[in-house]
Amino acid sequence: MEGSKEHIVMLPFMAQGHLIPFLGLAKQLQQRFGFTITIVSTPLNVQYLRTTIAKDSTASSQKSQIRVMELPFNSSDHGLPPNTENTEALPLSQVVNLFQSSIALEAPFRSLVSEITVKDGQPPLCIISDVFTGWANDVAKSCGTVNVTFTTGGAYGTAAYVSLWQHLPHRLTGEQEFRLPGFPDSCRFHISQIHQFLRDADGTDPWSRFFQPQLSLSLGSFGWLCNTVAEIEPLGLDVLRKYTRLPIWCIGPLIPPRMLSTESSSGLGSRIIGKHTGREPGVSPEKCLEWLDMHSEKSVLYISFGSQNTISTSQMMALAMGLEASGKPFIWVIRPPVGNNQRGEFQAEWLPQGFEERMTQTKQGLVVHKWAPQLEILCHKSTGAFLSHCGWNSIMESLSQGVPIVGWPLAAEQGYNSKMLMEEMGVSIELTRGLQSIITKEEVKRAIETVMDKGGKGEEMKKNAAEIGELIRASVKEDGSIKGSSIKAMDDFVSALFSTRGAFS
Ligand code: UDP
Repeated sequence: MEGSKEHIVMLPFMAQGHLIPFLGLAKQLQQRFGFTITIVSTPLNVQYLRTTIAKDSTASSQKSQIRVMELPFNSSDHGLPPNTENTEALPLSQVVNLFQSSIALEAPFRSLVSEITVKDGQPPLCIISDVFTGWANDVAKSCGTVNVTFTTGGAYGTAAYVSLWQHLPHRLTGEQEFRLPGFPDSCRFHISQIHQFLRDADGTDPWSRFFQPQLSLSLGSFGWLCNTVAEIEPLGLDVLRKYTRLPIWCIGPLIPPRMLSTESSSGLGSRIIGKHTGREPGVSPEKCLEWLDMHSEKSVLYISFGSQNTISTSQMMALAMGLEASGKPFIWVIRPPVGNNQRGEFQAEWLPQGFEERMTQTKQGLVVHKWAPQLEILCHKSTGAFLSHCGWNSIMESLSQGVPIVGWPLAAEQGYNSKMLMEEMGVSIELTRGLQSIITKEEVKRAIETVMDKGGKGEEMKKNAAEIGELIRASVKEDGSIKGSSIKAMDDFVSALFSTRGAFS
């Protein structure tokens, strides 16, 4: 395909879990088709993107062609703390302000796309915008191009999100379980799987006033790209197709291809990747890998709640005690418990007395503060399970390596993801959900043993995770004219884009 003269403009939402897959998509489009890619965001997110791209280029010794451009943004104009341009470490009450603030980007974004159009002598081939920035459809129309919505979550979680916002309110009288339109009758959702703000939403509150119109606008897109593999989420994809009535191209996983090669599952792939995220890690990849090398195959539990979530103080205490009681080796990415400054110092009293020292002495655990090289850890042969908040990137990273999951969903669409992992894939058990739950040391120990010990339910989960891992890897394989489903979907997507050129000229 004649790609190199074509330009694609990308607009991720302002959250780490969105910037990372957008960057992954940009890299694939650039490398496979030679497109000029411009990612647009606010100043601090632009800084993050530039740093990440630069680190990636150093690691792969390949100069990146991805351009990053800035939109003006002043957080204080939107009732946000100074220098806040990302959902990271933002209390929920202010997250809605961040969502609303993104609407103010429409005018400068339109000017930027117009400038690109003048400079290139033609409009960009398309805009790829986030499911939260539906207004990009209007910009695309006014600039003579098409908008494609990229949903960084999986198909099932996105389908649940669409259905929930389209069928307000969800104030259930006495009932704990409910049917979600679009999903089969047998697939009941539990009220605790949806957010309090969604339970309270009635179309007039600030959350509804943001999500409902942005979603409707996104449904007017040329098509949707989904960060999943068609074969692993048949139900979710079916429901999502019914809702959108648009082409959906499943182009995931957006993980560096070298992490999906056969060697990576034996630990070799993890030696050749540089820092994936661009954030300063709390520990070097080398230290983690050396620590993992000391342990036997599939014996280590990795624990992380993603780029922005954390748990409560009492939950943290129970988790630490349960880990210690299980005796299983672990790597735990730890952050101040909820309600404390996420950028501040970690207080020893948040953990059982002497916990970190004991874990170091006995070599049972590696406690990593703030940030760990997650992909490298999941790719290492010693990693046997992942206690995760069920963010979609974490799920794809884990399953691509055949690593089963202990779920602890906390926010966003994580509750629906966790449900899907248990009910549709059989790769997970849920330890608990949310920040309010009370968990005990015994429950933690039991969940860890279930997934990590030989025999029983854990065995089934490991087998299922390994099979899903195979499907994920197969989806990005290419051997001559034989293409995995995600490679084919990416090609189909680009062909569909080219077909619009005729329509616009
Ligand atoms: N991540 C990481 N190290 C950490 C925590 C997170 O590399 O210590 C990366 C992880 O590999 C994933 C992303 O951050 O790519 C988290 O995305 P996810 O969708 O799982 O959760 P979110 O952060 O959006 O809640």
